[in-house]
Amino acid sequence: MYVVVKKDATPTEINELKQYIESTGHGALEVVDDGIRKIGIMGKSSISFKEDLLKFSAVEDIKKIGKSFKFVSREFKNEDTVIDVKGRKIGGTDMILMAGPCSIENKEMIMKIAKVVKENGGEFLRGGAFKPRTSPYDFQGLGEDGLKYMREACDKYDLVMVTEVMDTKEIVLVGKYTDIFQVGARNMQNFSLLKELGKAGKPVLLKRGMSATVKDFLMAAEYIVAFGNREVILCERGIRTFEIATRNTVDINGVALLKEKSHLPIIIDASHGTGKRSLVEPVTLGCILAGADGAMVEIHENPECAFSDGDQSLDFKAFEILAKKIEKTIEFKASLKCL
Ligand code: PEP
Ligand code: MN
Repeated sequence: MYVVVKKDATPTEINELKQYIESTGHGALEVVDDGIRKIGIMGKSSISFKEDLLKFSAVEDIKKIGKSFKFVSREFKNEDTVIDVKGRKIGGTDMILMAGPCSIENKEMIMKIAKVVKENGGEFLRGGAFKPRTSPYDFQGLGEDGLKYMREACDKYDLVMVTEVMDTKEIVLVGKYTDIFQVGARNMQNFSLLKELGKAGKPVLLKRGMSATVKDFLMAAEYIVAFGNREVILCERGIRTFEIATRNTVDINGVALLKEKSHLPIIIDASHGTGKRSLVEPVTLGCILAGADGAMVEIHENPECAFSDGDQSLDFKAFEILAKKIEKTIEFKASLKCL
């Protein structure tokens, strides 16, 4: 349910309304959508509550949201959400390029990669310090040292840092360094983590779970929003299907559908989506045309020697070519809008 606020409502009237909503234990999520101010009412509410709200002078109308995912839906907010991180815009008409290693292996390597990302127009550095590995015997990440190296690299090259947080216990530590929290596919439905990230005060890049439907994905995003954080970036990274020729199957339908159903930005991670270096470029470009607001790519100076995910990592040359092709694809996509 949400309130449509009267155009001429004063700030005092709006505040009174919001305070009342919050005093009843509901959350009040204020947005401006196509010039109309709306207040989302979060939590279950009764008919009599609706009647109480109608008594407030700021209220123009009250609308019900039919979907199970509510405040991430375009039914609540039609306008694209644009997330500003250190002046870089995610969503709307902007396109982002986020690249980096699967795992931070040492300081020198993340510094080198940060330089390459910057030189090729990327503004976001990704990299794992806490790694969710399928095998407990595989490299688990450098932990806090990795975070420190990555922060240093981001500061040196003026890049936005994105790294995974796997556990509620690590939010404070990871939050000390990162600009954006990444929630990995394996944790998409870790509701305790999602709730805590709702209160963490930094944007969250939410990866789609391996067997999550589009609805499950949006419901996971809804958790973060419902617990107080509206800055959620969706990331399609492929799902498990009967097809085993590739690591995962990128759901290009899902990219277009998510764009249609939700105002949140969405990016494509074709590295995990395909698991195969040669497929990263075509699938990334295809998903940008299908509606993605940017791309995440794993890169490595010498992919054969990477501690993790070497098979799907691009070397620097391939990344340079991809970055150029992304630019061209963005221009082409913009030209299609004029038709
Ligand atoms: C990653 O980004 O390195 C990662 C582990 O991704 P995912 O959670 O999509 O598997
Ligand atoms: Mn990886």
